[in-house]
Amino acid sequence: MLTADLHTHTRFSDGTDTPEELLAAAQAAGLTTVGLTDHDTADGWDQAAEHVPPGMRVVPGAEFSTKHPGGDGALVSVHLLGYLFDRDHPLITAEWKRIVDERTNRGARIVQSLVAAGYPITLDQVRDKAGRGNIGRPHIARTLVDAGVIGTVGEAFEGILEDGGPHHVSLRSTSLVEGIEMIVAAGGVPVIAHPRARTAAAVLSAPVLETLVDVGLAGLEVRHPDHDHAARAELVGIAADLGLLTTGSSDYHGGNKTLRIGQERTDDDVVEQIVDRGAVAPFVG
Ligand code: AMP
Ligand code: FE
Ligand code: FE
Ligand code: ZN
Repeated sequence: MLTADLHTHTRFSDGTDTPEELLAAAQAAGLTTVGLTDHDTADGWDQAAEHVPPGMRVVPGAEFSTKHPGGDGALVSVHLLGYLFDRDHPLITAEWKRIVDERTNRGARIVQSLVAAGYPITLDQVRDKAGRGNIGRPHIARTLVDAGVIGTVGEAFEGILEDGGPHHVSLRSTSLVEGIEMIVAAGGVPVIAHPRARTAAAVLSAPVLETLVDVGLAGLEVRHPDHDHAARAELVGIAADLGLLTTGSSDYHGGNKTLRIGQERTDDDVVEQIVDRGAVAPFVG
């Protein structure tokens, strides 16, 4: 049976739903299990735990932003899902504090640079866009759109806010290996998110994935809206060879993306294996 969607976002990162709204949407889609995986935070867990509809359960987790070196040594972005880990483990709390501090400082530096260049925005406007989440370039881009400086968020990423541009300030990311290690240390279950989406595919060859299994990697997200048929078939083969679990999820972001909750799902027996391995129990309704 396919009654679980293990990768979703709320307002605690870049989704638009509250945890309560997300769970209501999940129930309406016929799901019984929902993975809550906001970017680099577990702050949505408490609200989710309070609003689990009867008969449903929430697998608390997070989507860690990590980097892994490619063949040329350049760091490539890889997203890592962690499920059912102890969010108070010192490795997790220290890393997330570092990320919040670094993003707060970096957001202020980018805005300062933009203001100095004459763009009519303020840090408060950017903070408003970020809400409860960490400040990122998408929030600055939306502020620039509202100020009429540019037409779309995409334009900002191709111009004013581009990597290596005059207003760019880089961030130190968690390494993929560190991310797997900290999830494992905190008793959680690490699964690589959308391993064949965008650039991650270039660094996540079968031999690299094999080395990550030794670090403690538990699974691969195979069914994902960004994966075509060929990618799914390839990943199923790799997972079988390496003894990895395979999951499926929508990567729902509420109104911020057109994905429907539950449009991709995970097999119930895989969900049970993840639940068995996790240090934390799912939240039940
Ligand atoms: P940051 O982490 O603050 O450097 O911002 C990078 C984030 O912006 C990525 O994780 C994406 O979610 C988002 N992003 C990158 N490129 C674009 C784009 N062209 N349009 C909209 N969002 C983007
Ligand atoms: Fe996102
Ligand atoms: Fe992702
Ligand atoms: Zn995601």
